[in-house]
Order: sequence, then structure tokens, then C-alpha cells
Amino acid sequence: MRVGFRIHRELKSTQQEGLFVFLLVAMQPVRHKLANAGVKHRANRSQRRNSFPLVRLLKIEETSMEDVVQNHQRIEKQILIGTEIGRKNYRFNEGHDPNRPVQMWFQESLEGKILFIVFYSQACRWSRCLGCNLPSKMSKTHVNFKALMAQMDDVFSRPEVLEQRHVLKKVIVSNNGSVLDEATFSSTALMYLIAKLNLHLPNLSVLSLETRAEYVDFEELEFIARAMEEGDTPTTLELGVGFEVFDDRIRNEVFFKGLELKTFEKLVEMLADYKFQLKCYFMQKPVMDMSDAEAILDIHRAIDYLNDLVRQHGVKINLHLNPTYAAVGTILEQSFRKGEYSPPRLMDVARSALHGRGKDITIFLGLSDEGLACEGGSFLHPGEEGLVEKLEAFNRTQDYHLLSELLAERENRHGSTVPGSRFNG
Ligand code: SF4
Repeated sequence: MRVGFRIHRELKSTQQEGLFVFLLVAMQPVRHKLANAGVKHRANRSQRRNSFPLVRLLKIEETSMEDVVQNHQRIEKQILIGTEIGRKNYRFNEGHDPNRPVQMWFQESLEGKILFIVFYSQACRWSRCLGCNLPSKMSKTHVNFKALMAQMDDVFSRPEVLEQRHVLKKVIVSNNGSVLDEATFSSTALMYLIAKLNLHLPNLSVLSLETRAEYVDFEELEFIARAMEEGDTPTTLELGVGFEVFDDRIRNEVFFKGLELKTFEKLVEMLADYKFQLKCYFMQKPVMDMSDAEAILDIHRAIDYLNDLVRQHGVKINLHLNPTYAAVGTILEQSFRKGEYSPPRLMDVARSALHGRGKDITIFLGLSDEGLACEGGSFLHPGEEGLVEKLEAFNRTQDYHLLSELLAERENRHGSTVPGSRFNG
């Protein structure tokens, strides 16, 4: 990754140049530490921080404009190949205004008020995960740093954001792919975003970035850590990583996630070194050949696994559990239409989460299909608003009584719907 050089090129003719020169100077000892091949993540953070003479910044490999164009074409090809492997037939969102984010909303959690932003960028390079149509909200072609920065300006000019800027405790940043993949999400824009957060959100305690694990580099963690230290309040970094399914075979051979446990565990070690935190996205019942009971068991095993990692490394982990919906343009939609797949029931999501009682991880239940489900293919059904409210209350409080009461009420009314199991955590 040649962060320094790309930033320098991108800065020409922008109004924000002064701000970035400042950020570059503040961060320059960091970006080249891994250019020094001997320095790997075995060194601890303070050793790494002190090991980079400023002069190394001058040794930056040049990239021609043709290289840049070819690189953009190569990324586009990767996206199309991934889309084909995942057997998806959606179109990309080329008509979207590149100066505005795709979506943003507010959430409540134990950590306080959250702003969730989905920026419009080039689609996820992996693109092949079964049943995922998040890339369809994105561009097939490259979205440059200027457009991304304009989206950030747009976010911080909205009255609803400015009105709540003092109460916002957490910002989750997504591009429906990997914010730390510099090929699809500009590093310049990422630094600009951190500067904006430091300027506008004085009480921010967590910045959460969604990314695939393989895009996480030490130099990025280090410069992000330094930039965040400059805000008014201490802000920590959380990485949101899609794990989706605990079962290895289903995760990689059926769902095509391409995530090995050793890659994930390396990431946990890295984050522990910085005392950063991790959000792991799981999906309940993400593939066709999984019964409701198997889906619950898979989440129980995920909870146990993450809990062991917390105890081993002292890292803070939140399991974010998304019930699966039949997403438009995917094979899950086709199976749903043929009656071969049904999304999980919210009561089963509660049964999964209840296993977290007494463990050292927190759990957040994703209760929105973000408008990406096909007709009738959501896990949300009319008449279940009360149930959703109780699950939202669980998100805010982590009070497991709410879940056990819900399940007890349901069992009293209908009897247990999962054979041989009372799922009392
Ligand atoms: S789940 Fe994530 S990594 Fe997989 S295709 Fe969707 S956006 Fe890309």
C-alpha cells in the first residue's frame, strides 16, 4: 500500500490541502513502518511507533496514470468475477449521485446514540458471498476521493446530524464492502472523515469501520489511532468484520466467505495490541440447506468461540447478529420464490442470542433488512412490532431477562417450537 504517494497526488487542487498537509505531517512516521520489512506485528505498539525515521517518507515508489487506470479496470473485473461466482443477477447502482451517501440512520445501543453511514463507493471487490446484494447499492466503477469527501461534507451539513452532534457516541462507517480496502475506498477520504469526526463530534467514543479482515494493516491502525487521539474525547477504533457463519465448511464452501479462522485470529491479536475492539457480523440461517435448529446451534458455537477469544486476548468483542433475508438478485431470492428457503423467525434469533447470557461478549441484533429483501422475503412480518421493540430494548440494555421472558411467553402460548430445546442460555 502506497498511502503517502496516493494522498499526495489526490491532494492537488483541493480546498482541503491545508488540513491534509497537517494530517500527513502528524502521521508520517507511521505510514512507512511496514515498508521496513523487518518490522512486523510481533513488535509491540510503542516499539513500532518509535522505529520510523521521517526521511523514509521521501522514498515513495511512483505510479503512472496508466497504472492507475489499469488498476481501476482490474478491480472492476474482480467485482464482476465475484458477482458471477456468487450467481447474482443484480445491477449496480450507477445512477446514484456520487456526492451523497447511499444511506444513513441513527441507532440506540448500550454504547449510546449511534450514527450509521453507508458511503457510496466502488462495490466490494470480493462480491461473491452467497445471498449478499450489498454491492448492488454501489458503483461498479471507481468513485474517487473527491466524491467521497463531498459525501462526508453532505453528512456533516445535515441538520439531524448537527443537532445530535453532542450526543453521538459512536459512528459506524460502511461502504457495503471494506472501508480499509484502499482500492475501493480512498485513504485520503478516510483521513478526511476522521478529521471531520474530530471537528464535529466532541463526545465520540467509538469509530467503527466495516472491512474484510485481509485489508487490515498495521500502518492503517497506527495512523487511525494517532488521528483519533487528537479528538476532544478519547475515541477508540472498532473494526466490523463479516464472519457470517461459524461452521467452516458452510462459511467457505457454501457461503463463499473466504475467511479462514487463522486470518481472523491474527486480526484479533492485532486489535488486542492496540486495545481496539471488534464487531463480528453473523447471519442467522444464511444458506438454504440449514434448518432453524442448526442455524441456532451455529450462533451458539460462534458465541462460545468469540467468548474464548475475549478471555484469551482481553479484546472487546460484540457479536452483531443479522437475521438473513432473501436479498433481491441472489440465489436466496430464487430459493425463497421456489419455497425452498424461508428466513429465520425473530423468536429463533432471540433463542440464539440467549446463549450469550453470562458470557464476556456483547450482542447486538440487527433488526433492519435495509430495504434489500425481495417481496415477502424479509424476517420482519406485520404484527411483530412488539417483538421488535423488545429485541431493541435488549440491544440497549443487554438484559437477558427480556429474551427469556419473550421465549417463556411464547412457549406458554404455543409450546416449544424447537424440539428438545428450551434455549435458556
Ligand atoms: S458479505 Fe461483505 S465481503 Fe461478502 S460480498 Fe457482501 S459486502 Fe462483500
